[in-house]
Amino acid sequence: MPTSLTYCLHQILAMQGITKPIKNAVRAVAFLLEEMESYAMAELIRDTVNIQLSTLAEDMQLLTTDVREKIDNNLGDKITDLDKNMDRINRVIDKLEKAGTNAPSAGRGGNPAQANYTQGTRTYVEALVTPPPHADPKLVAKEGIRARQHMLEGIGEDSKLRGMDDIQIKDKLNKITRELGLEGRGIRTVTRQRLGGLLIEMADDHVARWMKEETNVKRFCEAVGTNVTFRKRIYNLIAYNVPITMEPENDNHIKEIHETNQLEPRTIKVARWVKPIARRSITQRTAHLILSYTDIHAANRALVNGLSICHRRVTIEKIRKEPIRCLKCQQWNHYAKECIADHDTCGNCAEHHRTNQCQDHTKKRCASCNSTDHASWSRECPIFRQKVDECNKRNPENGLQFFPSDEPWTWTPRRDDNTGKSRQEYLDTNTSRRQPNGNENCEPEGAHRNRDVQEPTAWGDTWAGNNYNDFYV
Ligand SMILES: [Zn+2]
Ligand SMILES: [Zn+2]
Ligand SMILES: [Zn+2]
Repeated sequence: MPTSLTYCLHQILAMQGITKPIKNAVRAVAFLLEEMESYAMAELIRDTVNIQLSTLAEDMQLLTTDVREKIDNNLGDKITDLDKNMDRINRVIDKLEKAGTNAPSAGRGGNPAQANYTQGTRTYVEALVTPPPHADPKLVAKEGIRARQHMLEGIGEDSKLRGMDDIQIKDKLNKITRELGLEGRGIRTVTRQRLGGLLIEMADDHVARWMKEETNVKRFCEAVGTNVTFRKRIYNLIAYNVPITMEPENDNHIKEIHETNQLEPRTIKVARWVKPIARRSITQRTAHLILSYTDIHAANRALVNGLSICHRRVTIEKIRKEPIRCLKCQQWNHYAKECIADHDTCGNCAEHHRTNQCQDHTKKRCASCNSTDHASWSRECPIFRQKVDECNKRNPENGLQFFPSDEPWTWTPRRDDNTGKSRQEYLDTNTSRRQPNGNENCEPEGAHRNRDVQEPTAWGDTWAGNNYNDFYV
């Protein structure tokens, strides 16, 4: 409408006889009309935009609601599927557990600390080792062999076995097992040991289980000779920060540890301090103690729960196999007794004399890497670190937290701390070969004393495939 009015007014202005004042008045009205026109247009645009925007908002709202409903439905379906699958998995796990060894296990996701251990009631007719599916096959094989091995001891000087070679002894022992009613492949190998023992390996798990039955063990030993027994395997643990009031040689103290920690009698065969008492500082109140266990399950339980010793809760770690350093030549993987070097090499200064005859304890040279920053016994020596890596490769059980057994949880890998070294690696775990982190300026006293008789000990290596050390403390 304003458009047509403005048009009319312009027509009037063009007419004849219109005076100037009238022209001006008509122009003013036309100008006002034009203003009204743009205002009306702006209103129109605003209304249109408003309408469009609210339509868009409604559309968006509808779309969002729709998408949310769709997601909700989909998620609901997925959760139902997941529940069904979880039920199925749980049923499979239950079946597997029932079909398992029936050994008292920690249960699915269970805490071994709460496992129902009943010491002394474990039957011998169990799986020898029960590794989880992801376990290192080499380690499984090695532990399988270890579980089939027994150490026979007490074979007298007058025994007929003394004059026989390993094959003859094996045939003789197999004759005995056959007479006792063992069917199958019997004993696979017999290896005579340095301290007079006989390491026998059963051919398979079936015969190994037979040989674990106490009545069979008794009859077999009696048939081999009087006083012949099976030596128990040793599991070495280190107890950290034990009060020094504890006396390892005192039977009453050992008995008290058994009672406090509910251990079967004689579970701990030997206890000894890591470091000689003479090397303690005056202010020292606690020290590290080595405990040699005869029961794998008790040893693993100590690793999980710790022990209570002299009214103090102490943490326990497994003692791992470490490289052997010869105390005569300071080189690796043999003992002084077997050393073929023609002269002594000093563990401090690497010169040609015995370590205990070293004149200058401030002078250091490493016989392995030739560094003058550290002595041959240093645990920081790069060659030593390399030997530790090699040793770990040869002994994959070093990578486990526990002693691997028929309980799957005992195959749990070791957790490395941030430094990549365990606590044990900072400690002198062996008085004759180890050195605490550089605080001492000479090798431990025990090393000098033991130089002539250095030989395998419980914490020694099982290099050359000899499991000798698991049996002797
Ligand atoms: Zn040597
Ligand atoms: Zn020297
Ligand atoms: Zn070195």
